[in-house]
Amino acid sequence: MKYRIGVDIGGTSVKLAAVDENYNVIDKSRFPTGEGCTSDSIVQSIIEHCRPLIEKYEIEAIGIGSAGRIDSVNGIVITAGNLPFRNEPVVEKVQSALGLPTFIDNDGTCALIGEKTAGACKGYNDSVIITIGTGIGGAILIGDRVVRGHNNRAGELGHFVIDRNGIKCECGLHGCFEQYASASALIDTTIAASAAYPNSILSKLCKENGIEGKTVFDAKELGCPIAIALLDEYGRILADGLNSLIHIFQPEIIAISGGVSRQGEALLDLIRPHLFPECKVVTSSLLGDGGIIGASLLGTEHAR
Ligand SMILES: [Zn+2]
Repeated sequence: MKYRIGVDIGGTSVKLAAVDENYNVIDKSRFPTGEGCTSDSIVQSIIEHCRPLIEKYEIEAIGIGSAGRIDSVNGIVITAGNLPFRNEPVVEKVQSALGLPTFIDNDGTCALIGEKTAGACKGYNDSVIITIGTGIGGAILIGDRVVRGHNNRAGELGHFVIDRNGIKCECGLHGCFEQYASASALIDTTIAASAAYPNSILSKLCKENGIEGKTVFDAKELGCPIAIALLDEYGRILADGLNSLIHIFQPEIIAISGGVSRQGEALLDLIRPHLFPECKVVTSSLLGDGGIIGASLLGTEHAR
């Protein structure tokens, strides 16, 4: 059996694994990209984590998906959000250290490639993947082709404006969708609601377990009316954004990935009543591995 390595460079950690011909993710590992990391130290860690996989499996190629602006033709990470990459020649460094063909692309594009090859978007020629985590990203497939846009920068699905008098976004605009629909936004509204209603079940859960994206879902499950109202509003915002994407791209399917998608049916129940009926909306079926699988397929026909 032949294998490929998929690397997923995210905002807080790098995940990587061997991926077999049936898209099974094997020997996954992860390391943090926090304080003290430099662009070179991250690349060297990727190289060191690949070595045992290369010894153990017959690896054909290495594919890397990264957050940020990627020059996939020249193999360079131009910038990558809060990571220290500045025009880092990642492909050249990995390829010369390990002697294997190496490819790189945007993490949203990799998630889409994973989803259309092995996940929820398989069999669909027109699809959108939206990744809802710390921020919101994504990618678009039209006519079975990944829409890359000028400079490979299409797919910033978190940065269309839904309130021009709204919250300032790091992209320079005000009121971007991501400011209201990301997991971070959901956590911010959870914190505010917990403070405003200190006797609520939601507030009790926040104090007992700390606050994460799932806290408000847990409180709703326990019947908390504050959590129910908060999630009802969140569902409406998310549906507004998805309906806008449906208007613009007319996909057959939208797959939601990222941390929030782990809520599965509990998330879909919030948005389904408000969605246009012509498009199927599902959560990712790849359990957070879509980015690794998609990255591993860079350089193949699946990544067209
Ligand atoms: Zn923005």
